[in-house]
Amino acid sequence: MKNGICPKCDATTIYMQQLTSSEHRIYFSSFSASSPTQYICGTCGYLERYIVDTKKLAHVKVSAQWTPVPPETDEE
Ligand SMILES: [Zn+2]
Repeated sequence: MKNGICPKCDATTIYMQQLTSSEHRIYFSSFSASSPTQYICGTCGYLERYIVDTKKLAHVKVSAQWTPVPPETDEE
């Protein structure tokens, strides 16, 4: 999506917006928060959001407020 191509419909009608309102803030911990940049496809409406502040993003890995999601494995 960041490359200007929609991962859902392959359209090249991608638009981006930096969110600034406090209501959009994502909290990684009680002391760390950041606002996401969002990308939307003008063709199918698919929406993605990214945190671009990598220093704050790193806090999610040690935060008790976020639960790790382990990758699914094929069990035979
Ligand atoms: Zn699309």
